[in-house]
Amino acid sequence: MIKAKTLVIASHNPGKVREIEQLLLPFDLSIVSASDLGLCEVDESGATFAENAEIKARAAAESAGMSALADDSGLAVTALDGAPGIYSARWAGPDKDFGSAMARIEHELQLFGTLDYSARFVCALALAQPGAEIQIFEGEVAGELTFPPRGSNGFGYDPIFVANGMRETFGELDPSRKHAISHRARAFAKLKQYLERGDAAL
Ligand code: IMP
Repeated sequence: MIKAKTLVIASHNPGKVREIEQLLLPFDLSIVSASDLGLCEVDESGATFAENAEIKARAAAESAGMSALADDSGLAVTALDGAPGIYSARWAGPDKDFGSAMARIEHELQLFGTLDYSARFVCALALAQPGAEIQIFEGEVAGELTFPPRGSNGFGYDPIFVANGMRETFGELDPSRKHAISHRARAFAKLKQYLERGDAAL
């Protein structure tokens, strides 16, 4: 089947690209990732998730000459004043060692001596289309952190996050259950409404 349009996913994170591909399945789009096209990773110099998503989407759309979708997301821990937040990937270091990043969160919460283990996953999506205004869609999911980490599904901080009303961590959930409630799914629901309105140049 010939797909209508190609969309670049402006991410080099295979876990994230996999989730985005699944969330975009209902659309008649051919998906390529920034890694498939050999695009460079850009400096995430923004101060918010939305600013970083915009930086990544614009850079990918300009380099590839086609529409690009970027996701900037992370975990905001209430008692740590929203950290790691936009630094969520960077806390894992160049080796992307999320075991250490999760241990650092546990350590900082213990140092703080807090009983407040609440946190939010936040996602900002930016859609850059040639000749159109950039579009931003945001979603979040609230929950509690749990230690030690549990489950090997998902990626990043999933093994320590339990969404409100659930018992399993995101790392233990079947991907379809995570996709029903996640921050990314909520941002995608807004993107879907936008695409269905037919305003997109895609
Ligand atoms: P970004 O590529 O700068 O947006 O990095 C986002 C980082 O936030 C990821 O590398 C993960 O560490 C974390 N993150 C974002 N979304 C999720 C998720 O759904 N599950 C677990 N960790 C996530």
